[in-house]
Amino acid sequence: MTENNAAFNRGNKYLMNTYSRLSVVFKKASKQYLWDIEGKKYIDFIAGYGCLNVGHSNKYIVKALQKQISQIIQPSNVYYNLPQIELARRLCELTGFGQKVFFANSGSESIEAAIKLARKYSADKYGKQRFEVITFERSFHGRTMGALSATAQPKKQNMFEPLLEGFSYGEFNNIDSIKDLISEKTCAVMLEPIQGEGGIYPVDKEFMKYLSQVCSKRDILLIFDEVQTGFGRTGKMFAYENYDISPDILVLAKSLGGGMPIGAVISSDSISESFAPGMHGSTFGGNAASCAAGNAVIDYLIDNDIAERAKELGTYLISKLQKLSDRYSVIKEIRGIGLMIAIEFLEPIAARLVEDALKDGLIINRVSEHTLRLLPPLIIKKSDIDKLLKWLNIKIRDI
Ligand code: PLP
Repeated sequence: MTENNAAFNRGNKYLMNTYSRLSVVFKKASKQYLWDIEGKKYIDFIAGYGCLNVGHSNKYIVKALQKQISQIIQPSNVYYNLPQIELARRLCELTGFGQKVFFANSGSESIEAAIKLARKYSADKYGKQRFEVITFERSFHGRTMGALSATAQPKKQNMFEPLLEGFSYGEFNNIDSIKDLISEKTCAVMLEPIQGEGGIYPVDKEFMKYLSQVCSKRDILLIFDEVQTGFGRTGKMFAYENYDISPDILVLAKSLGGGMPIGAVISSDSISESFAPGMHGSTFGGNAASCAAGNAVIDYLIDNDIAERAKELGTYLISKLQKLSDRYSVIKEIRGIGLMIAIEFLEPIAARLVEDALKDGLIINRVSEHTLRLLPPLIIKKSDIDKLLKWLNIKIRDI
């Protein structure tokens, strides 16, 4: 038995069976590369499900983190800590519309906070009957009960019913479906500007414009879940900048921490003042270590113009994949913006490709039987992208 298989079997013995894991165990990573416990090297095209836009163990972030944990890690939320204040200030400045931040530890937790904030704001202004949240088919907002209720995917929800009351689901990019759902009870509309787990579906400009207009006219809060799309992934610091529309509440996580657990909810003063002490909280939310990492991530992204890099490399990769699609009829569609890309096939070959890629030192991901998802670290090199393209060409040709 190989070392990887032995460690994999030990993992299966002691860890709950919540993920379809591949039989490899990694012990070292740097930039866009990973090494398994037998020393084999891999190029990473999924970046921890999009949480490593700045790459694995980015030296700049590691240094900031080491400095911070040698000083203070978590003084408790009864006190402010300096990295937390600085990160909140920078997020407000970066987003433009933001004036206050709540820190959590993950995407799901931040979604929970956003739902509570929207309900509280609407109840304060219009009474408790205004509590409904509209989300969209195929969306993914997390797995805690509130976030799962917002995640409009029956196959993820069914076995955990009853879900939270007050969620309805529109058809993504269909204006009429929203017209039918909005009512006096609606307090918020929440969406991912590009649906990630659902298969990389960007929102249409017209649809986004309609949502923004109807929400602002009826004082319904527009919530953007940018847990996966944030921090340069789509060629802009935040994906909503591709649409020239700002949300009322922005939810961030994943790449904000450069690998450390953190999430953030950002809104204006007038919305955030609905929260008062005791209404929401999180023991580790806003801890000094994760916030120091967050500050370093923002420095790194800006100083190295990483969003622009994602745009250029994304345009290159999408155009090359398009050429593959023209050549091979088994490819149904290429979708994406920046370095957030899906390859959809007519045949259910995604699982096989993921496994074959792993054997050949490439880490890719599938969101369904028919669809591969590419979310490489944004610091990836063009030569790495070319290796993947060459591999895909051979594999698809031989199918
Ligand atoms: N929202 C989006 C858009 C996501 O992609 C995810 C995770 O993939 C989440 C929320 C949940 O984040 P977490 O896994 O950190 O709880």
